[in-house]
Amino acid sequence: MIVTRFAPSPTGYLHIGGLRTALYNYLYARKNGGKFLLRIEDTDLKRNSLEATKAIIEAFKWCGLDYDSEIFYQSKRFDIYKKYIQKLLDEKKAYYCYMSKDELDALRATQEAAKQRPRYDGRYRDFVGTPPSGISPVIRIKAPLDGDISFYDGIKGRISFKADDIVDDFIIARSDGSPTYNFTVVVDDALMGVSDVIRGDDHLSNTPKQIVIYEALGFAVPKFYHVAMIHSSSGKKLSKRDGATDVMEYKAMGILPEALLNFLVRLGWSHGDDEIFSMDELKNIFSPEHISKSASSYDFKKLEWLNEYYIKNLPYENLKKNLKGLGFDLDIFKKPEFLLDMLRARAKTLLDIIQSAKDIINQPQKYDEKGIKKFINENTLKNLQLYAQKLDKEHKAADFENFTNTFLKDYDLELKDIAQALRLALTGKTVSPSIFEVLEFVGVDDSKKRIELFLENMRAIF
Ligand code: GLU
Repeated sequence: MIVTRFAPSPTGYLHIGGLRTALYNYLYARKNGGKFLLRIEDTDLKRNSLEATKAIIEAFKWCGLDYDSEIFYQSKRFDIYKKYIQKLLDEKKAYYCYMSKDELDALRATQEAAKQRPRYDGRYRDFVGTPPSGISPVIRIKAPLDGDISFYDGIKGRISFKADDIVDDFIIARSDGSPTYNFTVVVDDALMGVSDVIRGDDHLSNTPKQIVIYEALGFAVPKFYHVAMIHSSSGKKLSKRDGATDVMEYKAMGILPEALLNFLVRLGWSHGDDEIFSMDELKNIFSPEHISKSASSYDFKKLEWLNEYYIKNLPYENLKKNLKGLGFDLDIFKKPEFLLDMLRARAKTLLDIIQSAKDIINQPQKYDEKGIKKFINENTLKNLQLYAQKLDKEHKAADFENFTNTFLKDYDLELKDIAQALRLALTGKTVSPSIFEVLEFVGVDDSKKRIELFLENMRAIF
């Protein structure tokens, strides 16, 4: 069975690069009817916080990524790690190292002077005798002294490291007994039956160390896929300056989770020239073999384009839920579906929808000044007054359009002689959804009231 996992260290918020990793693991598991696990790697008590864990769970919820079984917390698994460390000690595959800080510093200095790579020299590897007193020892693993450590990466192909270059007898437990990162990852992946590890290629240098641990413990090594990082459009590592990196900031910006996931899946993975993918489709077609070897670049315009697409095409209930998540409840309005359809035709983000809804729902409190200068004069005001007098019964938007055309013909006018004045009167703005739809939504009585109020305000000026 395919078992994948996402294993974030909770240090702040869920980064979009992390979400992409999670998504790839999720989709690969779903595609194969396997399992997707969520494991919080919270062993670093100084850097990890409950808040950060909450932020990850919240972001998962927002995106709709579900995981199988309960969340695993490494901080609750210390006994398990201790047991496996003891096993290695018992089998003489790991040992206590009593090197003091001074000794370590001296070793480093000699190696630096000889222009050698700083590394542990194995001095306690085969130590027998009485250990020096006053030292709380660390525990080191016996790593291979020569040969290659090699594995097949599902994205990068075969990767080999010279054992001698990359690993020395590294520490698997600190002097306070706490296990180190590489050790906990291996024990957990093995015990949780993880078959495939898809993760950022910033972890590539950890992999040979982890393989040493797998082999020492007699566990099967999973298949690895190291994904190239997301870069900014200028080819550098993506930073906050290039765009938001916190997943939940996208929510606040009015981006839909469907758009963000679609955007992220395409950052580094492709399926022909296709750009739009629903989650259901991805669960059928995603395969890590099509993850690109090279770094992908972040392009906010593309995300905006996808967001616009999903705003236009997602079902009403979905958008309603997402708007509610931003504190905007469509249900309090008289014709919520009509309102949303009118607004979504022109919106790039959910914030656009909320803003233009506010413009339409309430009688305007002020009017766009530039618009007034440009479009309002004695004539437009006269036309608007006449128009209001003729407005007498409710219509559908299309019939308001017919009604308006007849009006224009009767008075030998053109649409431009009235459209912007009407728009300003009804919404206070010069940009809005179709004015005929606005008329339908607001209704004849309220539209007339808005026009009256506008005329009153304008008469004070003209
Ligand atoms: N906890 C690691 C991180 O947040 C990920 C470990 C892994 O994927 O193997 O970078």
